[in-house]
Amino acid sequence: MQNLSDVSVIKDILSRHGFTFSKALGQNFLINPSVCPRMAEACGADENTGIIEVGPGIGVLTAELAKRAKKVVSIELDTRLLPVLNETLSDFDNVKIINADVLKTDLKKLIEEEFAGMKVAVCANLPYYITSPVIMYLLESRLDIESLTVMVQKEAAQRLCAAVGSRDAGAVTVAVDYYSNANKVFDVSAGSFMPAPKVDSSVIRLDVRKQPPVELKDEKLFFRMVKAVFAQRRKTASNSISAGMSLPKPVVLEAIANAGYGENVRAESFTLDELAVLSNEIYALTRQ
Ligand code: SAM
Repeated sequence: MQNLSDVSVIKDILSRHGFTFSKALGQNFLINPSVCPRMAEACGADENTGIIEVGPGIGVLTAELAKRAKKVVSIELDTRLLPVLNETLSDFDNVKIINADVLKTDLKKLIEEEFAGMKVAVCANLPYYITSPVIMYLLESRLDIESLTVMVQKEAAQRLCAAVGSRDAGAVTVAVDYYSNANKVFDVSAGSFMPAPKVDSSVIRLDVRKQPPVELKDEKLFFRMVKAVFAQRRKTASNSISAGMSLPKPVVLEAIANAGYGENVRAESFTLDELAVLSNEIYALTRQ
């Protein structure tokens, strides 16, 4: 088995296949040999687990996952990498590569077809240009998965793992917290990649909740409200919500009062519970 973290080995493989990096596809491949084993351990890959990987690149993380998991299914958009992966992963009979865009893949069906009887987890060094869309797609699809262990840019990790109500939190923080329990696992320096990106990264693990942590009368309305709050986070809740949800201000003010707040309250520092209560009050006043 070739050492897929060794820069000269990578260069040799890529040049033999005439491969050049695509910035547009977020192709920064891991060359720090300690990172992939740590990620594979952190995601809980073992003989009972099926792993979905997004973007295998040349297969450096895939190989570490395949050593530990029962089965690995890796989704790679770049067709040029298929012959490369064919070569680098030839030692494994428990890896399947699917040539597709992860955001257009029916993952429910994939899990049913590929991982019957297994626990399933996601592990990936995500392409940075679609970090949040991929995470939200995986969470919102309500897949039967245990966790997502993903490498993201350090700043994105800070936002995704922030406490709801804190300065670092945004609408995506609320959504991630609704679906999962998010924690940082370890930091990874920019020099761990080829080519090196401009910023450092972090590996985070999102443990998918079996039950939502708050009771919502209307999930869609809740997320519309959260989006409105964070789109104009410095404004009062009444202004940001009435503008963002196209609701009359008196209705929003009444909901805010019913939730027990003054008219000038700002919702950016609300906890998940407080946001849920407010959205349920808006629902009660607008559902007719
Ligand atoms: N896992 C490899 C590693 O750690 O060295 C490569 C990670 S690289 C940051 C991201 C990978 O995702 C690239 O191989 C890229 O081609 C692939 N990719 C980009 N967009 C994708 C998409 N929409 N669906 C699936 N794979 C994608």
